[in-house]
Formats: sequence, C-alpha cells, structure tokens
Amino acid sequence: MKRILILARTFGKCSDEPVKFLRENGFEIERKEKIEPRDLKEFNAVIVGLQKITREMLENSNVKIIAKHGVGVDNIDLDAATEFGIPVTITPNANAVSVAELTMTFIFALSKKLVELHKTLYEKRQFVSSTGLELLGKTLGIVGFGSIGKEVAKRALCLGMQVLVHDPYVEANVLKEFGAEGVELDELLKRSDFVSLHVPLNEKTRHLIDREKLSLMKKTAYLINTARGGVVDENALVEALKNGQIAGAALDVFDLEPLPPDSPLFDCPNLIMTPHVGAHTYEAILRMNMMAAESIVDFFNGRVPKHVVNSEVIEKLLEKGFKR
Ligand code: NAD
Repeated sequence: MKRILILARTFGKCSDEPVKFLRENGFEIERKEKIEPRDLKEFNAVIVGLQKITREMLENSNVKIIAKHGVGVDNIDLDAATEFGIPVTITPNANAVSVAELTMTFIFALSKKLVELHKTLYEKRQFVSSTGLELLGKTLGIVGFGSIGKEVAKRALCLGMQVLVHDPYVEANVLKEFGAEGVELDELLKRSDFVSLHVPLNEKTRHLIDREKLSLMKKTAYLINTARGGVVDENALVEALKNGQIAGAALDVFDLEPLPPDSPLFDCPNLIMTPHVGAHTYEAILRMNMMAAESIVDFFNGRVPKHVVNSEVIEKLLEKGFKR
C-alpha cells in the first residue's frame, strides 16, 4: 500500500471528500504538521503546505511525487526534486478568487480606514469620524498578472478603477483584452493609488519592493502584499510607514512566518495584517485538496500528473512509460 504524508494543515478539514478519495484509491495517509529531515523515508508521496522540503530530506526519502497544496513552490528545493526525478505539482487557479477577494477586502478596508475606525469605536468607545476615499477613478497597479493578478484586475475594473500592470512575461494583447495598461514597474509605482503584489518569490522578485521603489510611490498611496513576504523589504516598509512615505499598507504574508511577536511591523501606523489566510476559504481549500490528491492518484496510476512545475521531469516519466 502506498503511503502519503499530509503536511498541508487544511487538507481534509473542510470536507471528507479528499481523504475518502485517497483511501478509495488504495492510499494510506498520515498527517504531520512539522517535518523532520528523516520523515520522508517512510512515505511514497507528500502533500505539502508551507513547510520546507530540502535536498537532504529528498535524498533520504522514498518520495516519488510532491503535491504542493497551493502555487508558491519557494519552500521546495526544486533543483533537488528535478535531479531525483520527483515531479512537483501545484494547484493553480484553485485559490485565485479567494486571494483576489482578500486583496479587494484590503483595498476597501484601507480606503475606508475600516480597521482604524473600528478600533477607535470598539476599543476606545470614541465616536470619531475620519475621511476615506472612493475607489471610483483611482489607479490600481498590479505587479504580476497571473491567475490572482487577473482576478484582482477584473474586480477593480468593475469598480471603475483604472488598472496598470507590470508583468514582463505577459503579452500586450492580453492586457488590452482586460482593459489594463502595461507599464514598467517604476511608472506603475509613481502613478498608482494602490499597488498590489502578485508575483512568485524567486531570486528576481526578492525585495522587488525595496527602499528605492517605496520612495517612488505617492505619499497618499497604499501597498498590498498577498504574494510572499520576501517580495517586500520589510525594514524599508517599516521606515516608509513610520515616516509617511506611503499612506498605509496591508500584508497577508511575511518574511518570517509566523510573524515574531517583536516584529517592528506591530509598531507601524496604518498597517493591516492577516496571518497568511489568502487561500483560506472553504471553496479554495476543497479545490486545492482535490487537485493535490488527484495529482498523486494520477501519478501512481501511471499518468503524468497535471500542473507539474519542474517540467524537465515529465520527459523522464514518459520514458518510463507514463501516459499523458
Ligand atoms: P501565477 O504563476 O499565475 O502568476 C504569477 C505572475 O507573476 C505571472 O504572470 C508571472 O509572469 C509574473 N511575474 C513573475 N516574475 C515577475 C516579475 N519579476 N515582475 C512582474 N511579474 C512577474 O501565480 P498566482 O496564482 O497569480 O499567485 C501569485 C503568487 O501569490 C504566488 O506565487 C504565491 O506566492 C502567492 N499566493 C499567496 C497566497 C496567500 O495565501 N496569500 C495564496 C496563493 C498564492
């Protein structure tokens, strides 16, 4: 019997369907939330959330496939997985609407000063008003126009916002079809009232938004990061918020997670934070659960699973007799 290690915390939490599906297909499953270097030895497949999967773990393992519960694979040593012929699959689009809705929630909350007003009224019992902004006619800059960036654009356009996009890998006609304008990053930062980040974390995007980039933003503008913490230089953001370089920010993701209680972010004005919950809706979780489970079932039934990110491995699978 094949054994699957489930590390993704939310797997099977919203419905029994994915667990049943794996059991009906003859898999034995074990859950853990933390992983030790030697843990993977006893398993044939792993469904991983945000836990780190290192070369050392894979070197000493019997794992044949890694199914990422989500789309960001920065926690997995992809080079090592590829070298060992292990396909790494993702669950694209499963959580795009959920993350886009959180992004819009942040944009609404920042523009209406929702959290600040709630805190003043609820905690201090002070009935003090403050002036917010309408979104109609405001400019939203979207950095990274993939599944999530596109869902954000659709929603912003419905609200009458103007959408600027920076994504060097997206064709101009795709942007045109959406009614968005493609621009370089610096121009996007200078012109936007809201800047929202939707790029993967990699060598090129680490600290993409640093002190210099923050200094290009309008003093009245807001930064929203629901991508990965490392895309923003947190120290530079703290400075920018404290010295009024930008009007505010909203973060769902952090350099270090869980966010340490002594993080300087806790002392920042005009900052809204959520604990990496962008993908945490019932609908997105069930979609991700099923897509991850299907990848594993497909693989052990001799089919190349869908959404393999290390595509070099696909050739090797086909050579071994896997079917498309
Ligand atoms: P995606 O792969 O569909 O889109 C990413 C886009 O970024 C692509 O269009 C790509 O061309 C673009 N891009 C890459 N490098 C860029 C660069 N240097 N500058 C500008 N654009 C660049 O991914 P997605 O599903 O839209 O997700 C985006 C990111 O959001 C993920 O990588 C993940 O880290 C994060 N995410 C967070 C949550 C959460 O819970 N907060 C949930 C899902 C995804």
